[in-house]
Amino acid sequence: MSKFVGAHVSASGGVYNAVANARLIGAKAFALFTKNQRQWNGKELDSDTIDKFKKALLDSGILPKYVLPHDSYLINLGHPEDDQREKSMEAFLDEVHRCELLGLDRLNFHPGSHLKKISEDECFGKIAEAMNITLDKTKGVSLVVENTAGQGSNLGWKFEHLAQIIDKIEDKSRVGVCIDTCHMFSAGYDIRTREAYDKTWSEFDKIVGFKYLMGMHINDSKAKFGSHVDRHHSLGKGEIGLDAFRFIMNDERMNDIPLILETIDDSIWSEEIALLYSFVN
Ligand SMILES: [Zn+2]
Ligand SMILES: [Zn+2]
Repeated sequence: MSKFVGAHVSASGGVYNAVANARLIGAKAFALFTKNQRQWNGKELDSDTIDKFKKALLDSGILPKYVLPHDSYLINLGHPEDDQREKSMEAFLDEVHRCELLGLDRLNFHPGSHLKKISEDECFGKIAEAMNITLDKTKGVSLVVENTAGQGSNLGWKFEHLAQIIDKIEDKSRVGVCIDTCHMFSAGYDIRTREAYDKTWSEFDKIVGFKYLMGMHINDSKAKFGSHVDRHHSLGKGEIGLDAFRFIMNDERMNDIPLILETIDDSIWSEEIALLYSFVN
């Protein structure tokens, strides 16, 4: 088996609970928040919590590289105002430290927003600078930039945006991307038919490169193609439809990376995971 499918599970009550929640739904990969995603300050990870997490992960048979932690939604590394950006950078460094402590090797984050106060280029410069500073202060964790739907002033919806960020990173061995199927579709990259799917991914390969693909978010989309609206849906119930997910499950280029559901009905995640595996030829 070369596909590692799971979901963004709850870590409430302690990060180790995420492992148990992943096992309950038959996941071979998972995502989690290592602290409350809507607060700036999280409780420090104590050694007991860390040990429990590591033990649970080892027992589960899920390797650290199939765990894709997601940072807080408050962080904006491209924030136009210095004090707000400082705050974001501090929180981001803490997120990476948390991954280090938990023995995880990648952190998924949204690139940032210019809030219509600075140019896109300036914003990319700030994001990349913040990433370089963070990489200097940490080790063993790769920074995984997620593509966005391009809602509001969010950057990262074009493959060129991701490439522009990667281009500015000094240590390219520790940068990667996560492609969210809902975001890509909403941003105007079609994957609904064989033809569209092949065209979109060959464009991705040309502009970004598959060697940077370190994870995916597997979501259908409530919002229409090219709408730039970020609304996830359960697989097969949205505008994308099931074929795209069938293509992904049979595409070797998505082997050996975490494939994470962020679909809206967590009560059917185990069915969605089983459905995805049933697509494998
Ligand atoms: Zn996502
Ligand atoms: Zn989303």
